[in-house]
Amino acid sequence: MRLDKFVLRSTQLNKQQVVKVIESGLVSVNQQIITDCAIQVHENNHITYNSNRLTPRPFRYLLLHKSPDTLCSNVDGEYPSVFNDIDIENKDELHIVGRLDADTSGLILITDDGRWSFNITRPDMDCPKVYRVTLAKPITEDAITKLEQGLLLQGESTSTRPAKIIKIDDLHVLLTITEGRYHQVKRMFFAVGNRVNQLHREKIGAVSLDLDSKQWRHLTASEISSFG
Ligand code: URA
Repeated sequence: MRLDKFVLRSTQLNKQQVVKVIESGLVSVNQQIITDCAIQVHENNHITYNSNRLTPRPFRYLLLHKSPDTLCSNVDGEYPSVFNDIDIENKDELHIVGRLDADTSGLILITDDGRWSFNITRPDMDCPKVYRVTLAKPITEDAITKLEQGLLLQGESTSTRPAKIIKIDDLHVLLTITEGRYHQVKRMFFAVGNRVNQLHREKIGAVSLDLDSKQWRHLTASEISSFG
């Protein structure tokens, strides 16, 4: 990881303070003063700040039940950030793995482990995500066939990967997809002449939503390693 990230994760300094202490020559790596924030370091390097050895905090892995009208962003915007619902220290080190639209509810994963989140979002990982979709119009058999086969979304040159649909009733389906294109679910239903009225994510990989709206918890060790 980068030196500035290592120092950030090992101290109570904020990002600006970290840059300042590195550039002032207060941080050394293996007995050598380093003033370049961007150099790559490893956990087993001997890294000191003001002559004190630094040890990074362990990575954190969280699950949050996002409520509608909240933003998957670290800061408030048109709506409040989902991070307002998480009472945990050093929130600015965390990021969201696979964002949801402001009006979408359901499961989001949050971490400070960039490699882990990359594994989940990499297209070749084929990580299934399950959405409960409420539709404006009854779903047709023709639409189910097209969605399951994969279809071309407006403005794109490659078809969506085959999806899986379980029809609950005419206006409700469970949709499983393994990609995360921009507004993908809404655009898929638009492409078959329908509209999404409500969208809720129930599951990512082996991790299912088991919390009430706005509640969060740490992932279990087996949930974390299920994405390995
Ligand atoms: N697809 C969408 O259209 N919106 C989301 O929030 C997630 C998937």
